Amino acid sequence: MANDEYYMKLAIEEAKKAQKLGEVPIGAIIVKNNEVIASAHNLRETAQLPTAHAEHIAIERASKVVGSWRLEECKLYVTLEPCVMCAGAIVMSRIPKVVYGATDPKGGCSGSLMNLLEESQFNHRAEIVKGVLEQECGDLLRNFFRELRLKKSKANM
Ligand SMILES: [Zn+2]
Repeated sequence: MANDEYYMKLAIEEAKKAQKLGEVPIGAIIVKNNEVIASAHNLRETAQLPTAHAEHIAIERASKVVGSWRLEECKLYVTLEPCVMCAGAIVMSRIPKVVYGATDPKGGCSGSLMNLLEESQFNHRAEIVKGVLEQECGDLLRNFFRELRLKKSKANM
């Protein structure tokens, strides 16, 4: 658990990089044999790509490092529960363990709306550990959206 918190802190640092760019603060880290092999943050606005989610970019980077689409010995840490696309990418990359911080009741497909990571009908399942540094991960998002609303209300005055 202490180990999970250590890596989640690195994912939170990635999320803060996204925030500096005006992106929704979400960060992800991929670890293999206790070594960080990929890190990424949300770049959806910067890249204007619907696929530029933190986990998705981290999976692409990790595959390049490993030299394989199979990430069977990797763990993925992400500050927010993976969405439908990222949960799909996790299943497709055979990542066996996913650790996330905050839950996403509106879009999460790793336990909230549905649970694609533990879907018995797929040929691969990923173990889920949720709620690691949940408060810190969630606060980043809550503060980001609060500031966004403030900016919008000021702009409308
Ligand atoms: Zn996603």
